[in-house]
Amino acid sequence: MAKMAIIVGAGLGGMATAIRLARHGWKVAVLEKNVRVGGKLDCYTEQGFLWDVGPSQITMPFALRELFEYVGHDMENYLELMPIDPMCRYFYPNGTTINAWTDFHHFKIEVARREKDRGEALENFMRYARGIYHLLAETYLFRPPKNAWRHIIGDILKNLHHLPKIVTPQTAAKAISRYFTDPHLRQLFIHEATHPGSAPYRTPAMFNIVPYLKRQNGSWYIRGGIYRLAEALERCARDLQVEFFLNAEVSEITLENKKIFRNPRASGIVTRGGLRLDADVVICNVDVTYAWTQLLHTKHQKSMTRSLERKPFTSSPFIILWGVKRRYSQLAHHNVFFSSDPIAESNDLFEKKRLPTEPTVHVCISARTDRTQAPQGQDNYSVLSHTPVLEPNHSWEERRDSYRNTILERLEKMGLDGLRHEIVCEKVITPSDFAVRTHAYRGSMNGHAVHSLLEIWNRPSCRSPKIDRLYFVGSTTHPAGEEISSALLSAQRVTRTVINDAKSSPL
Ligand SMILES: Cc1cc2nc3c(=O)[nH]c(=O)nc-3n(C[C@H](O)[C@H](O)[C@H](O)COP(=O)(O)OP(=O)(O)OC[C@H]3O[C@@H](n4cnc5c(N)ncnc54)[C@H](O)[C@@H]3O)c2cc1C
Repeated sequence: MAKMAIIVGAGLGGMATAIRLARHGWKVAVLEKNVRVGGKLDCYTEQGFLWDVGPSQITMPFALRELFEYVGHDMENYLELMPIDPMCRYFYPNGTTINAWTDFHHFKIEVARREKDRGEALENFMRYARGIYHLLAETYLFRPPKNAWRHIIGDILKNLHHLPKIVTPQTAAKAISRYFTDPHLRQLFIHEATHPGSAPYRTPAMFNIVPYLKRQNGSWYIRGGIYRLAEALERCARDLQVEFFLNAEVSEITLENKKIFRNPRASGIVTRGGLRLDADVVICNVDVTYAWTQLLHTKHQKSMTRSLERKPFTSSPFIILWGVKRRYSQLAHHNVFFSSDPIAESNDLFEKKRLPTEPTVHVCISARTDRTQAPQGQDNYSVLSHTPVLEPNHSWEERRDSYRNTILERLEKMGLDGLRHEIVCEKVITPSDFAVRTHAYRGSMNGHAVHSLLEIWNRPSCRSPKIDRLYFVGSTTHPAGEEISSALLSAQRVTRTVINDAKSSPL
């Protein structure tokens, strides 16, 4: 008889796991609290404008293609990827603008305008970052966790000469400053290398792998909106007979064997509406810390919760969606408006836990690549700024409008003259709204922050250490990294682990 898996949460990691297990003949049910799938990837439409909410670019498209190929489909039958070039346009408070072109030689010319060695710095930096890739990417991103340590040691021995690249200097920022003298370029590469939502100046040197991956793989958009990816995964899963329960919030993951000296075992779920389902395994796509605090009532709950809550969390997103009737010619698809004091900004977010006075603002306008996303001659702005994670009893209601105005004023000051008069519609999504919709613990974007090499491997792993047949998948688990792709890679890992476990100890 087919084995049965329940997946809690229809985020990208959850749906990718459902697809993979279904392909192995498992019966799969996905329970999602919202009325539609996608989780942190959502969409919104008003007055002819369409916005993606959350992810705005795909940087490792091979992870998407691999998923469709795994089940014998062509990704191109589901999605049309479109390149974004420049990947990003960076705006500095002193009026400087830099384009991060996808094409390496084009970008090298841009860098050469700022570095006196005529762009050699870029080549040297990429050579250094490629070394990190050879040393760790295979092990960190692609290997099943069971073999990881054996391979880490194997890879390290093979690439011993690259080891100092991740150990000294310890942070990505310090390494970057060895290659580039221009402060603008330093700020740009630190931004690229930061694990999203972590403190830029504490991100370990290993994350310098990201600028390399970006140059290798480019930056991509999906025609019709990135949300098409969520729809495609749902369609692909349904084609494989995966059953979806939408608007079905799980209130508890049920456990058997609550004996003192043995791990309990996950046996199914109960929803708020009273639906009870049994399964051979439960795979949780919900934020790991949220799951431990709310869904798992075991003797380990207190100790697990305490150890997860103690670690630093990635920041929360403050999102504004604007329909804008004027097309500012200086803007590209992705635009980052930098703070003049990024260290003070980082201290505000992660040490003092307060809103930065001069936040870095990311403006994504997908209509620059795909004209279907806004009425003719107009633009759809998806604006993102980072805020500290939510504190208990903190209300965003009082700060919502003033922070929205801080962002608007920054954009006007940095060149978008009269922007306030060009806005025809608006939706603001505060960190509290985000936490309510996705159950992201304290509204944190990606779960635990990555502020040291150890924290990279210390992220929650895909198999629960305390509860048998309970697994975790998604952006709050290992591996931390290039986001959508990391969630898809974590689905690869969890599927392998579930299948291997089922073989070694039959369910
Ligand atoms: C603002 C923002 C910008 C981002 N930008 C990018 C980007 O440009 N590029 C990129 O690659 N990535 C980006 N990401 C990251 C990306 O969105 C995530 O990595 C990706 O969506 C993976 O999600 P996941 O698998 O962890 O699931 P999640 O999206 O976390 O989904 C979890 C699901 O579980 C559901 N759920 C929660 N509790 C319950 C319950 N009790 N019962 C049932 N269901 C429940 C939730 O509703 C949700 O649907 C961004 C994220 C954010 C927040």
